[in-house]
Amino acid sequence: MNKTFHAIERALPHIQVLHAYVPGDQPQGDGWVKLNTNENPYPSSPKVASAVTAEIDYLRKYPEPVSHKLRSAIGERYDLSAKNVIIGNGSDNILDLITRCFVDGAGATHTVPSYSLYHVVTGMSGKTLTDIPFTREIKLDIPAIVATNAAATFLTSPNAPTGVAFPLSEIESILQQIDGLLIVDEAYVDFGGETAMPLLKNYENLIVVRTFSKSYSLAGMRVGFALAAPQIISILDRVRDAYNLDRIAQAAALAAFQDTEYFEAQCKKVIATRETTASALDKLGWFTYPSAANFLFTEPKTTDGSTGPEIAASLFEHLKASRVLVRYFPKHPLTCAFIRVSIGTDSEMQAFLNASKSWLNHA
Ligand code: PMP
Repeated sequence: MNKTFHAIERALPHIQVLHAYVPGDQPQGDGWVKLNTNENPYPSSPKVASAVTAEIDYLRKYPEPVSHKLRSAIGERYDLSAKNVIIGNGSDNILDLITRCFVDGAGATHTVPSYSLYHVVTGMSGKTLTDIPFTREIKLDIPAIVATNAAATFLTSPNAPTGVAFPLSEIESILQQIDGLLIVDEAYVDFGGETAMPLLKNYENLIVVRTFSKSYSLAGMRVGFALAAPQIISILDRVRDAYNLDRIAQAAALAAFQDTEYFEAQCKKVIATRETTASALDKLGWFTYPSAANFLFTEPKTTDGSTGPEIAASLFEHLKASRVLVRYFPKHPLTCAFIRVSIGTDSEMQAFLNASKSWLNHA
C-alpha cells in the first residue's frame, strides 16, 4: 500500500451517517413465489418487445436526452403538455431530484409509516425529515403536516405499506394550507384510489409522481415520471442527468403507455385477485387494511387469537421456508405485527394462502 485513504472520515459529514435504502430481497434463482416488492405478476404489453428490438440497431447512438415522446404522450393523457412532465430513471430518481432542488434548511416532512426512500433522499442532501405519525386508522393529521412548515411534504397515496388511499379533498386541503411543495407519490394509484392529477391545474405547489414499475410491469426497466407546473419541471431538468433514460427504456415505456387496453386488463386482474385474497384473509379472521394498491397489509392471527410482532415474524419465516417471500417491517409499532404481501397471480396467492394455513396449524 503506497497511500491509504480513510474514506469514511473523508466522506461529507451527512454521508458518514447516511444509511442506504434497503430493498426487499431479490433472489436470483427460480422456485420462489415472490410477493415482496410489489412487482406486477404479469408481463408488460406484448408491444414492448418489438419496440425494444427496434432500438437495438441504434444503441451506438445516444438516446434523445429529454425523453420527449414520452413526455408528450403523458402530458396529453392528463390533459396537460410535455412541459408539465419529467421522466426519471425510476421514480426514486425523481424523488431525489425534487429533494436536491427544493428542500432547503426548512427540511421535508412525511407521514409514518410510508416509503422509507424519503429518508434516504433527504439524508443524501443532508436535510432533515420530520415524521408525522399515523395512528392505526391511517388518517392524515393535516394540522400536524401544515405545522411543520416544510419545504416539501411527501405523501404516498395510496399509502405504502398499508394500501390505504387518501381522499382528494384532504390532499387539496393540505395544498391550500402549506407554503412548500406537496409531492403526492402515486406509485400504486392505478390499482385504486383517487389521483391528484386534476389538482395540478389549480395548485402550483403540487408534484404528482408515478412509476412504470408496478402497473406497467416495467420494474426492471427503471422508468418513472412526474407532473407539475412547467416552472417546477424546468428546475428539475437542471439537475437531471443529461441522458437519464436509455433508448430501450424510453421505447419500452412509450409502448407500454400507449397500449391502454392491455394495461387496463392487467390492472383489473390484479385488483380482482387482491379482492379474493382479502376475502380469504377475512375468513381467517385477520385484520387487513382496505387496499387501493397491488398489495395487502395484513395482521396474522393464530388459532388462539394472538397477534403481535412474534406472530408476524413467525409467519414471515414460515413463508420464507416454504419459498414464499413477503415483506416484514419489524421496526415500527404500526407495522411490526403485520406482513405485506404483493398481489401475484391467482395461483401464487393460493400458494401464499396454503403456506399461511399450514403455519396456522403449527403456530
Ligand atoms: N414510491 C413508492 C411508494 C414505492 O413503493 C416505490 C417502489 N418501491 C417507488 C416510489 C419507486 O418506484 P421506482 O421503481 O419507479 O423507482
